[in-house]
Amino acid sequence: MELDRRFRRGIIFILSAPSGAGKTTISRAALQRIGGLEPSISITTRTPRDGEVNGVDYRFVSDDEFRRIRDAGELAEWARVFDAHYGTPRAPIERAVAEGRDILLDIDIQGARQIRRNHPNDTAAIFVLPPSFGELEGRLRRRGTEDEAALQRRLLRARAEASAWNEYDYLIINAELEDSIAQLAAVVAAERMRTARLGPEFEPWRS
Ligand code: 5GP
Repeated sequence: MELDRRFRRGIIFILSAPSGAGKTTISRAALQRIGGLEPSISITTRTPRDGEVNGVDYRFVSDDEFRRIRDAGELAEWARVFDAHYGTPRAPIERAVAEGRDILLDIDIQGARQIRRNHPNDTAAIFVLPPSFGELEGRLRRRGTEDEAALQRRLLRARAEASAWNEYDYLIINAELEDSIAQLAAVVAAERMRTARLGPEFEPWRS
């Protein structure tokens, strides 16, 4: 039985990975299959890829609009990744934490550092790595969303990013999607049971 959410704060689950690790697939599946986990919709200045829906995958904004939102203090974190800006809207996250709802942030390492610094007691950070660098390169090539130069930049960056794994609370080696989702579900379940998240008003045997 799950602990009553009225008595605990919501958890900010952070999922980061070098691109090509399979993180997007894991986070989509997790949102569908792990109960009570909500997405955070980031804003970005990047152009939408085929099949991406504004307001669902991201909120796609212009450079000017991004700057306005950021300068108004409406972002919990933001970062420049490749040639675009990305940011996590602050209000939905703070509301979720206060109301005991759990959210999943699919963000890069720079953003993860900011969120963890500002919400040290409300985060659980998970890093995803592919089983090998060759696997990562294969996945990025199969995805085929970039030209060769952009791909090479992503690969270089992925190598550097992989070394950040030890800043995170949990590491998932994504060899089999089903295993990885089960591991993520286990992390979510364990984090929800942590006594440290319960408020002083919690009484286990109150009927
Ligand atoms: P993509 O362009 O492939 O969707 O995402 C590129 C990278 O930006 C990924 O590592 C993704 O996790 C990260 N990202 C997406 N949204 C945000 C955000 O709101 N903040 C930060 N810091 N990174 C983000």
